[in-house]
Amino acid sequence: MSEQNFDLVILGGGSGGYAAALRASQLGMTVGLIEKNKLGGTCLHVGCIPTKALLHAAEVADVARDSAKYGVQATFDGIDIAAVTTYRQGIVTSKFKGLQGLIKARGITVIEGEGKLVSPTTVQVGDDTVTGKNVILATGSYSRSLPGLEIGGKVITSEQALELDFVPKKVAVLGGGVTGVEFSSVWKSYGADVHIIEALPHLVPNEDESVSKQFERAFRKRGIEFTLGVRFKSVEQNENGVVVTLENGATIEADLLLVAVGRGPSTANLGFEEAGVTVDRGFVITNERLATSVPGVYAVGDIVPGLQLAHRGFQQGIFVAEELAGLNPIVIDDLNIPKVTYSDPEVASVGLSEAKAAEKYGADKVSAYDYNLAGNGKSHILGTAGSIKVVRVNDGPVVGVHMIGARVGELIGEAQLAVNWEAYPEDVAPLVHAHPTQNEALGEAFLALAGKPLHAI
Ligand SMILES: Cc1cc2nc3c(=O)[nH]c(=O)nc-3n(C[C@H](O)[C@H](O)[C@H](O)COP(=O)(O)OP(=O)(O)OC[C@H]3O[C@@H](n4cnc5c(N)ncnc54)[C@H](O)[C@@H]3O)c2cc1C
Repeated sequence: MSEQNFDLVILGGGSGGYAAALRASQLGMTVGLIEKNKLGGTCLHVGCIPTKALLHAAEVADVARDSAKYGVQATFDGIDIAAVTTYRQGIVTSKFKGLQGLIKARGITVIEGEGKLVSPTTVQVGDDTVTGKNVILATGSYSRSLPGLEIGGKVITSEQALELDFVPKKVAVLGGGVTGVEFSSVWKSYGADVHIIEALPHLVPNEDESVSKQFERAFRKRGIEFTLGVRFKSVEQNENGVVVTLENGATIEADLLLVAVGRGPSTANLGFEEAGVTVDRGFVITNERLATSVPGVYAVGDIVPGLQLAHRGFQQGIFVAEELAGLNPIVIDDLNIPKVTYSDPEVASVGLSEAKAAEKYGADKVSAYDYNLAGNGKSHILGTAGSIKVVRVNDGPVVGVHMIGARVGELIGEAQLAVNWEAYPEDVAPLVHAHPTQNEALGEAFLALAGKPLHAI
């Protein structure tokens, strides 16, 4: 039994928790970081990083298949899943070691074990008590299912999908959001048939409608099937796989069903409510400065309602550390946090869609320019279709950027600066975009909105 005291105690060492720890230690606070599994959390071990490794292997497979198109003689002989796994795990292990080293170098005390909040200032870890002047809750999220839909056997979530030691012949994917389309894209490139079921009318339904439509065209062209606007009814497992029944009576047979219907907050039985923290449907309710209903207790990351993204977790962790240090950090609205859907093609966006901007400012007060990547040299070289749409308020700032095409995720940095700095297209238009880059397409959209299109009519 021991008792440890810190300036700051953080429950959960994922993106949100460890970012808070790193920034707080930089600002001179003593930090106790409690983690029951592995530092780095979902993102590093079963989320962002390993899935991107799978996607990169998928891209290499597609390039190998298409090599003749580029005048390169190569053959695609198949996917060696064991080797893909070695590659994926090698990246995760190396990043994990780097993170552990960084945490140690910053003098942060890592406390291994499952913690429970027992008072506004104390977390119990086994027999030990860990006390802080302030506490940050950062316990993250888990893969959700639908009522009555049990995970197990051939009905899997993203965690099991990552660990598959074979390429399925046919997969049914429940959910056409980020996780569903990411795995669909990987499996199709690995040679599987894929059928996505999405209850809403579009794939990537949270994006600008024009982007969703282009995305659907691209997936259709790749031979990825999908059923939109129909709800899942039930699934049966047999020795061959699964039979999924939809509410319209249609059935889909597959080897596996991936359930990708979102993530729920991991907050049950952790003492939050007993300590007075307001929780709604499992999410911890905070004000815009991430303070919970209990003075001195903050929450960051996926347990706070809103976008469940690693970089939002990083930003929130840094925010709370700076708030505690009295630095009065600025609030970043979820709307202005960049979102990337990783697949072939990629989708990247920030700010208001064209429809939402019209709703907010009035249809006659906003303009949008949609630059087709067909006009962009680098995109043509890469063989990608797509577009970059910039939405502005007339005589006012850029309020949204919506992109689709190979590698457009890499362009979101400039887009989020323009939106967050409330730049006018006229401010950006004189600045130079290197040629030939895909970035130029974004520059072309700014030029067009500033009234001086270059490679466009
Ligand atoms: C398949 C997949 C792909 C993804 N891809 C991306 C992507 O490309 N980009 C992106 O931005 N986001 C992505 N995400 C989302 C991203 O992983 C999460 O938004 C992010 O990890 C949230 O960080 P967090 O700190 O809130 O929680 P987590 O990363 O889940 O960390 C919470 C930590 O708390 C620990 N913990 C929980 N309870 C306790 C307890 N009682 N005691 C001690 N420790 C505890 C857990 O073990 C865990 O390590 C992806 C997610 C998935 C599932």
